[in-house]
Amino acid sequence: MADGALPGAEAMAEVLADVRRYLGWHREVVGDEIHASSEGALGAIAAAMSVEVTVEGSSSPPVVVEYREVSAEVTSRPVPAPSPSAAAVDVPVRAAAGAVPASRVQRPAPLRAAEPAVAGGSTEPPRLDEVRRTLGDCRRCKLCSGRKNLVFGVGNPKARLVFVGEGPGAEEDNQGIPFVGAAGQLLTKMIAAMGYSRDEVYICNVVKCRPPGNRNPEPDEIEACQPFLEAQLNAIRPSVIIALGKFAAQTLLRTDTPITRLRGQWREYVGIPLMPTFHPAYLLRNPAEKKSAWIDLQAVMARFPKAGS
Ligand code: URA
Repeated sequence: MADGALPGAEAMAEVLADVRRYLGWHREVVGDEIHASSEGALGAIAAAMSVEVTVEGSSSPPVVVEYREVSAEVTSRPVPAPSPSAAAVDVPVRAAAGAVPASRVQRPAPLRAAEPAVAGGSTEPPRLDEVRRTLGDCRRCKLCSGRKNLVFGVGNPKARLVFVGEGPGAEEDNQGIPFVGAAGQLLTKMIAAMGYSRDEVYICNVVKCRPPGNRNPEPDEIEACQPFLEAQLNAIRPSVIIALGKFAAQTLLRTDTPITRLRGQWREYVGIPLMPTFHPAYLLRNPAEKKSAWIDLQAVMARFPKAGS
């Protein structure tokens, strides 16, 4: 073989790159251990990732390397014994439910036409910047009185993947950007674990202004903001939506079903596949649930692999 390259070395390099990308969040989900059923890839993964690796069913001791960034040389050492460880009336832009048969849709067809104020009277979906312009210096609900900044959304206006949260917290209110506080940092890791950057996806909330003291958004506030959320989704027309937590899932699905029952089950929002999962803030309070959320994200990745991966 040319220059001594191992068979499949390139493929392995790609796998390792993937593993490295999602490890940031994986570490928080299951700790610094990877359970592998095959020893084949083990040394490479261990060396590349600097993680403790336990081989299930293996007679050989697990390989342990210290957890650190891998660019420098990594020395592995055997462990002595294997330890089995471990709607506002001015923006009637609601999309028509069931407009597109969901099962076959990767990139949904345009949803219902936006109102003239948003889309200039055309039958085309609104553009995101038009939706933002229509929202303006919004005074449609009582949340406007306490906000520093309206938090519209951030990311790729043509994203295949949209994350919808609940509403801005203090840091988001300060910066005018969704998910930049503690929960946002976890969300950023979740996005990276799926192989995306924040710039590649789109992130927004059910309500665009911070509820005082981070209380839950109230029904009238959700109702006032919902047309804008729907217009955002109409403008982006993503392939898939991830609803983060109860308010996003219940609002988009128009249901009272608890998030504990909704999560992990494929649903549809106007023909767009929607995966409800736990909110990152909930995951920070209940770390044991991160595993469930990871399963939900993996289901999204399996159904909608990133282009080129
Ligand atoms: N929680 C949310 O639901 N949205 C944010 O933007 C931040 C925290």
